[in-house]
Amino acid sequence: MLLDKNIVKLSNFNGRSFQPSIDNGLSNHHLKDFWDGSYFDEEFFITSDNTKLVPTHPKSILNRINDPDMGPVWSMNPYHSCENGCVYCYARIAHKYLGDYAGHNFDKSILYKSNAVELLEHKLKSNSWKGEKIIISGNTDCYQPAEHKLKITRRLLEVCLKYNQPVVIVTKNALVCRDIDILKKMAVKGLVEVCMSITTLDEDLRRALEPRTSSSKNKLKVIRTLSEHGILVSVLLAPIIPGLNSDEIFKICEAVSNAGASFLNHTLLRLNGTSALLFENWIHKTFPFKASRILHQIAEAQGGSLNKDDSSNRRNKSSALGQTIHQQVRLAKNKYQLNKPRRNVTPLKLGIKQTPQLNLF
Ligand code: SF4
Repeated sequence: MLLDKNIVKLSNFNGRSFQPSIDNGLSNHHLKDFWDGSYFDEEFFITSDNTKLVPTHPKSILNRINDPDMGPVWSMNPYHSCENGCVYCYARIAHKYLGDYAGHNFDKSILYKSNAVELLEHKLKSNSWKGEKIIISGNTDCYQPAEHKLKITRRLLEVCLKYNQPVVIVTKNALVCRDIDILKKMAVKGLVEVCMSITTLDEDLRRALEPRTSSSKNKLKVIRTLSEHGILVSVLLAPIIPGLNSDEIFKICEAVSNAGASFLNHTLLRLNGTSALLFENWIHKTFPFKASRILHQIAEAQGGSLNKDDSSNRRNKSSALGQTIHQQVRLAKNKYQLNKPRRNVTPLKLGIKQTPQLNLF
């Protein structure tokens, strides 16, 4: 148990990451516990809160990104913001460029791309598109609670299936299982990998860190269900936060391997710009007695500064602490066979990009 329950009252976490976390003894603001009874625990949140859904009309849906952790890839994000509300989220800082706040509003005001499906179909039909792999959710979660109602990701997958477009879906939500019918058809063609992002197996810590993602139990259930349906599943152990979840590396690797995952990647916490301030504020409220030590360790792993977004330091060419964490992940992956060769989700397997008409033969 990582939370000090004498200080942090779990009943005060109402599915948002920026809440008063120290009981003042006067509050009668108690909320229902999280429902963990099905894959679709997100449904509980969307109907019980005042989340605002705001349509946007972008000019393009694909971004070419050169992320040091992912390499050069195409990324597609149906949503600008994310209701999951993870305290450490690096997408928060982008929200301020949309004229909103990186803190609380990031998970209360959900901007979604209303013309995403039309934009994708237009792109995939164009002669210039070579069918390279697309990461769905390079920035925000495509299966966050709003997706239950809006179904943008589902419709994007239908287009991808129609055009034999390979994708890797990264999510922290069990809602991905809703689309298992499409994912199975894509899997038969080697077009899809689902990457389940897991931070911790400790439910108290998960609720505090990422209040609206699916429960750890449900995430493991997703890995098992998708694997049983022949869908390639990998895991992203992210972010590893020194002093907070770094002692769970072996436990998580064992659990996801038993659930059927064949591959695991990981990243260390990456605090950039304002997200460092938000995280610092949160950890002092949530873990007051060990906040300083954790912040010190994060800074050490990032090369000396809390918001020094330097990928080489995250991979730890220099920090002894980072090297130790990476070494632990390597050992755990070997022990639990999470290095299995992955099937390629690229159009090379299919030859050239196919048109919907060719699919008929
Ligand atoms: S699920 Fe991902 S995008 Fe959403 S808040 Fe969490 S880290 Fe950010």
